[in-house]
Amino acid sequence: MGARDLVVTTKAFVIGHPIKHSRSPLIHGTWISQHGLDASYEAIDVAPDQLPAFFKRLRRGEFAGGNVTIPHKQDVFALCDSVDPLATSIGAVNTLVVQDGQVHGTNTDYLGFLGNLDAEMPGWSERLDTAIVLGAGGAARAILVALQSRNVGSIVLLNRTRETAEELAAELAGSISVASLNAFNDVAPLAGLVVNTSSIGMHGSRFEGLDLATLPSHALVTDIVYTPLQTPLLAEAEARGLAVVDGLGMLLHQAVPGFEAWFGVRPQVDKPLRTKVEATLGH
Ligand code: NAP
Repeated sequence: MGARDLVVTTKAFVIGHPIKHSRSPLIHGTWISQHGLDASYEAIDVAPDQLPAFFKRLRRGEFAGGNVTIPHKQDVFALCDSVDPLATSIGAVNTLVVQDGQVHGTNTDYLGFLGNLDAEMPGWSERLDTAIVLGAGGAARAILVALQSRNVGSIVLLNRTRETAEELAAELAGSISVASLNAFNDVAPLAGLVVNTSSIGMHGSRFEGLDLATLPSHALVTDIVYTPLQTPLLAEAEARGLAVVDGLGMLLHQAVPGFEAWFGVRPQVDKPLRTKVEATLGH
């Protein structure tokens, strides 16, 4: 047997259902080629009832780990051998690392959100008194915990269904005030940051009744929706001269810790990667 036959490809994956839309194979594939690694990253469609069987495959050591996306971010909790305190406080796992037949769960959306804002708007969280978070779904969890980690004075969570926001705020430790979306114009004059974590902005949808003129001129508006890259919210904020950060950087930055854990190299989020992924997004 030649030395060539002994090389073992390190494999990683993203699981979801459906999974065809995922940009993760493009992101990780770009980094694998950039670093000349003998590695692979594949998208695998795993239906909810197939998750336990997939975890058996993981424990056999076929993969170094992978990403988890909708609808599995909460269901994998019960299947992991351990989940770190951060993912536990967020209540969602998006990254798995397999070591010695054990599957460890973590959450990198938190770091993706912070990494994106730190890169695009350095110092954004210094002296930030009030942040408005729009939407109280799965993605809002990591963002609320991330904002709490930066000691934001006051977090106001606004959601179409107020009860969902109340349940989420009660589940997360710390103080988060809750109201429905139509409270935006009352809270906005105090806000230094607005984060849209809801799915509004996708498929041509837009917020009704949010008056961005009520925000202070120093406010930063960011959207985690990245299809389209410039959502109606960001377009309006930019037209009003407010600072804006789009959601693609969050997707790119959340991929960094997983890649490093599976393949042992810390990759960079750079302009060529962003341009490559941006080319796959609708306008
Ligand atoms: P989700 O769990 O389904 O939550 C959706 C949220 O949007 C809920 O708060 C929901 O409010 C609200 N919403 C939906 N339709 C609405 C409407 N017509 N009017 C008002 N509110 C509405 O979704 P998610 O997983 O949190 O994801 C949300 C978005 O974030 C998606 O577009 C996703 O692609 C994006 N995302 C981006 C990244 C990134 O890396 N940039 C990461 C994760 C997610 P109700 O509670 O009232 O239903």
